[in-house]
Amino acid sequence: MFDWLIVGAGFAGSVLAERLASQRGETVLLVDRRSHIGGNAFDWYDEAGILVHRYGPHIFHTNAASIVSYLSQFTDWRPYEHRVLANVDSQLLPIPINLDTINRLYGLDLTSSQMEAFLAARRENIAEVRTAEDVVVGTVGRELYEKFFRGYTRKQWGVDPSQLSKSVTARVPTRTDRDDRYFSDSFQSMPAGGYTRMFERMLANSKIKVMLQTDYREIRDVIPHRRLIYTGPIDEFFDFRLGKLPYRSLRFEHVTLDRPHFQPVAVVNYPQTEAFTRITEYKHLTGQDHPKTSLSYEYPTDEGDPYYPVPRPENEALYKQYEALASQSETLFVGRLATYRYYNMDQVIGQALATFARIQKCDAEDAPSRRAAGS
Ligand code: FAD
Ligand code: UDP
Repeated sequence: MFDWLIVGAGFAGSVLAERLASQRGETVLLVDRRSHIGGNAFDWYDEAGILVHRYGPHIFHTNAASIVSYLSQFTDWRPYEHRVLANVDSQLLPIPINLDTINRLYGLDLTSSQMEAFLAARRENIAEVRTAEDVVVGTVGRELYEKFFRGYTRKQWGVDPSQLSKSVTARVPTRTDRDDRYFSDSFQSMPAGGYTRMFERMLANSKIKVMLQTDYREIRDVIPHRRLIYTGPIDEFFDFRLGKLPYRSLRFEHVTLDRPHFQPVAVVNYPQTEAFTRITEYKHLTGQDHPKTSLSYEYPTDEGDPYYPVPRPENEALYKQYEALASQSETLFVGRLATYRYYNMDQVIGQALATFARIQKCDAEDAPSRRAAGS
């Protein structure tokens, strides 16, 4: 009898497996239907021997020192600050939009305060900012919205930004200085040996058994377990009984070129042209020295593995109904797919650690009644 059956070996499932085994000495069966651990953060050495991310570029960034110190038990770090260029009007320009973006796009020589005035003259006055379009148009105006955001968002999500919650584009700041980093977080680094190596160390505990290429439904009635943690799509758990929750997927095209470099930064976005959204060159992320270089192209699609919850009011309303079902069940739901939240890795780790703290607290509260009952 396992103490826990955990479905999904991504961050949510692996962090909980690690905590339950190492802090409570409990036994865990961790199952994943894929052939590897790490969930969407999985990386591997491709045929050319280059470390690539199978599910697109994963850059670790956080403001939470406690999450860095938790992960640091399992990895060293390679400092890395992410920079992205957007291919706009045939130029490669910094995104998030900053002072250099505007000066180079329009052939100007503005100062920061002149850029403030430039944007103030263009931004639209939106009474209530609700949508992903409102956020951008209300900050930089319609022309820059059209150039940098509208096409990219339509490709990425398959709907117009006016149909998506503001949280989607609010992830990307606008800056009037020359800071060209994609993220502003206090900690920005990559796991030195890669994500998969870090997951292997998290799961290297004799109390944890990992079972791959197994859907939990194949084994849930066969392998006895006391409790269940589920990190897959929540609608699937409930057999879609309230309807399907949309998740956006991606098709990745991985290629290796017989040359050492391809593009000046790790990621180049294509908001105006091409069917793909972005090209990633992995050696920038890992610092690997290699005579060849490996890239991935991302083609958004509705078919395939679920990667992104789609933040729109009607989807959030349907999720709330599933959440109400979940709250009546003994199962714990954790992670990006199970709680239908557009979470970054650090947020999923934080959610998993908070779930572990709740498990500890509930057991501490239950202990006196269990003792009284003689169990
Ligand atoms: P997942 O990693 O999706 O793991 C869930 C696992 O459950 C999967 O492996 C799945 O196979 C398994 N599973 C589901 N159902 C079943 C079942 N029935 N039986 C068995 N197994 C099942 N975050 C960042 O912080 N920085 C980034 O740069 C970044 N870039 C990203 C780029 C892309 C293209 C994507 C898609 C995401 C990115 N993220 C990034 C987000 C990050 O991937 C997630 O926050 C994180 O990986 C979610 O972890 P999770 O454990 O919740 O889910
Ligand atoms: N976005 C865009 N143009 C860009 C970058 C981002 O329109 O060049 C929009 C797009 O809708 C995207 C959202 O902003 O989905 C959030 O971007 P982020 O890079 O945070 O998305 P991620 O790839 O991390 O999910």
